[in-house]
Order: sequence, then structure tokens, then C-alpha cells
Amino acid sequence: MSLTLYNTLTRSKQPFEPIDPERIAMYVCGPTVYNRVHIGNARPAVVFDTLYRVLNTLYPKVEYARNITDIDDKIMKTAAELGEDISALSTRYAQAYFDDMAALNNLSPTIVPYATQHIPEMIDMVTRLIEKGHAYNIDNGVEGEQGHVLFAVQSMSDYGALSGRSLDDMLAGARVEVASYKKYAGDFVLWKPSADNEPGWDSPWGRGRPGWHLECSAMIEKHLGDTIDIHGGGQDLIFPHHENEIAQSCCAHDGKPFANVWMHNGFINIEGEKMSKSLGNFRMVNDLLEQYPGEVLRYVILSAHYRSEQNFGKDLLDSAWRSLDTLYGFLRTHNDIEAASVDISDSDAYIALLDDLNTPMAISELHKLAREMHSAEGDNLPLAKGRLLANAGLMGLLQQDPEQWFTLSRGSDDISAEDVEALIAKRNQAKTDKDYAGADAVREELKSLGVVLEDSREGTKWRRG
Ligand SMILES: [Zn+2]
Repeated sequence: MSLTLYNTLTRSKQPFEPIDPERIAMYVCGPTVYNRVHIGNARPAVVFDTLYRVLNTLYPKVEYARNITDIDDKIMKTAAELGEDISALSTRYAQAYFDDMAALNNLSPTIVPYATQHIPEMIDMVTRLIEKGHAYNIDNGVEGEQGHVLFAVQSMSDYGALSGRSLDDMLAGARVEVASYKKYAGDFVLWKPSADNEPGWDSPWGRGRPGWHLECSAMIEKHLGDTIDIHGGGQDLIFPHHENEIAQSCCAHDGKPFANVWMHNGFINIEGEKMSKSLGNFRMVNDLLEQYPGEVLRYVILSAHYRSEQNFGKDLLDSAWRSLDTLYGFLRTHNDIEAASVDISDSDAYIALLDDLNTPMAISELHKLAREMHSAEGDNLPLAKGRLLANAGLMGLLQQDPEQWFTLSRGSDDISAEDVEALIAKRNQAKTDKDYAGADAVREELKSLGVVLEDSREGTKWRRG
């Protein structure tokens, strides 16, 4: 069984050929930590987590790095506005990001490098780029210009190969900072000077801080090597960020390829509209998590193919929740059956995932497997359940206790799980006291709050109806 991936670099789907089958290296650009993340930021995390799970079924070791950008002008600006220490702010939002991603059932990457912990590696890479004639520093004594180091894009013959556009086209379509000290308008910053009140590190070009693109190149070189198997991110990163990562790394390594496969996920739109500041329609993950279980968000993200533009909205979230209710409902019915361990290598869901992560197809296969489990009998039941759970696990779905699933809050007005448990205890006491009318009253009260009780030998179970 072989994996096929769409490569942005070649604009085609091709069989995945690892550099070293004993060790796969994958890097995904992580967040700049100065605020909570929105659902568009969650999409690459979920998509590449799914790819990570699939790669783990094929290869003995997968090194998956996703960085934290903890030095950036946006972080500095936000910290100044809040009167908060920069590292305190970035630590707080890095943790918030980890929490949000864990709530969406994402596994932790194997490596989480922080930009500020790799400054010597970045300075070293800039030094090599200058030596090789791909970068230049501004040493004109002019305040605000002095101490910049820029990458000379014209020194690289195939700059722009990823986006497939000419330099002039790229410059016309992007907001490029025009500065008189640049030799060419498309040259980008590797290192920039820091004012006394700004964070900075000593370097051969004076006290300063790294440019954003440099961070990923230096961290990849350190943790994964000169050439990696897969580099991923959102499609908004293709230019300039990924073009510039390629320029830095290829030129620092004398033309060696940087990443063999480039993968980019599409945008998420909200109720048919692009997320934008002017529309104020950003959907923050932590806000959504107050209304929906993380697994519902994950299911929605995976219900579209990662390369397509995805619409996101209430109807989709509600229908994803109903779909998961159906799947968990089947599992709940068979909760006492132990799932058998199964070989999934020829399952249709797995085959769909191997085909450039066709998650919509794989999800529809899950529903088929759930129905098969529901109609299975006897010895077939543990196998059918094993197949459903193993295939769902490839996408990080259906791994919760089904009983637990039906106790998850369905909205902010819901009675809390603790209050339900307290009322059940009150009802049990009434029954012990032979106050059957009182016990029934509690059951009715819970019913009016949307909670259904089921008495069994093991005690009273409950779920939101
Ligand atoms: Zn990056």
C-alpha cells in the first residue's frame, strides 16, 4: 500500500518516496503566539496531525516538528499594549495554543522548537548566506537602516519556483516593504536591528532580532536536516514565507533541495465569507469550544478535502454533531463488546487516506463501518467494532467513551454534569427513603432539562437527549 500526496512544488499528485524509510521528517509552520488562534489556524494542525497518524502506520519513526514563533513585531506590539512582559505573553499564548490543539484531538508533534531558543543557529545561517554571496548587511551608519541583513533574491536563479510566478508578478501581488536601502524591492529581511527598548541579541551586525522566515529554516536545519520529506502549512504561506524558507535553506546548503513534498491546506470561510478584520468574523477556537466539543470541530475540518476551500458555519457544526451522535450512538449500544484488534491495511477508509488524505471519503467509510457493526452478530461484532475504531483512530475520531460523549454539554444554557450527578444522588436518596414520588419528580425535572436517565444493574446512566 503506498501513499500518494499532492506536491505544490510539482503541482501534481505523486507517490511519496521517503528519503530514509527508517525516519520520516515533516515540518509544519506553527503559530506566532500573541493571541488566541482562529479556526483557520486549526486547519493545518488537524490536517497534518492526520497525515502524521497515517505516516506512523507506514514507517517506524516519524519526526514531526511544529514550531512556536515567540519573537515577532506583532508579539512586541501586543505586549506593549497590554503592558505585559514579552516572554510572559508568548508563553501564555503558546500554552493556549497547545490547549486548543489538544482539545481538537491533535497529538503532540515530536519536536516543538521555539524561535528564541535558536538564535545562534539563525546567526550562523545568516553568516553563511553572506559568505556565499546570497545576503548583504547594511552598514551605512544610518539609524533605522544600519544593522539590517537582507537576502538578495536575485542571487538565486529559481527563486519563486514554489508559487510558480516570476519575481515581478510576486512583487505586484504582495505587500512588500519598500526600503531605500534594499538593493532590490523583493529582498527580504534575515536580521533586523533592535532599539534599546526592544528585545534583541548580539550579532556580528549589531544587536538585533531574526526575520520570521529565517526562524523556520534554522530550526529545520537543526532538528530535521538539510533536506526534509514533507513541509506543510496553510496556502497563505506559499508566498512569501515558504518561497523565502526555500531560498535561505537551498542557498545555505549550496543548492541541495530543502523539502521534497510541499503541502498546503486551503482557507476556511465563515458562512460563505472570507475571515477578515473588516468583517470581524474570525471564529476563535476557544470560543467555539464553549459551544461544541473539540471532536465536532475536528470532524468538520476533516469533512472537506484539505486542499479545498472550506466553508464553516453553524449548520455544518450542527450536522457534524448529529453525525458524531449517530456514530457514538452505535458504539454506545455495543459498549460492552470488547473491540478486536484488526488489520486495516485493506480497509477503504485507510486506502482513501493514503490517496492524498481523502478524509471526506474516509469519513463516509466510517459511517459504513458503523452500520456494519450495528448489523453484526456474534463473533463478527468485536471485529466490526475493532474495524470502526481503528479506522476512526487514523483521523483522531471516536476515541472517547461513548457514555461520556452523551454527557457533553450541548450549549451554555445546559445543566452542568455536576448538577446532573447531584440530582441523581438526590433521586437515589429518595428511592432509599421509599419516597417514590420524590424520585419520579427528580427524573421529570431532569427530563425537562434535556437529560435522560437509564437505570441498570451498574447504577444510573444519563445522557443528554
Ligand atoms: Zn515556516
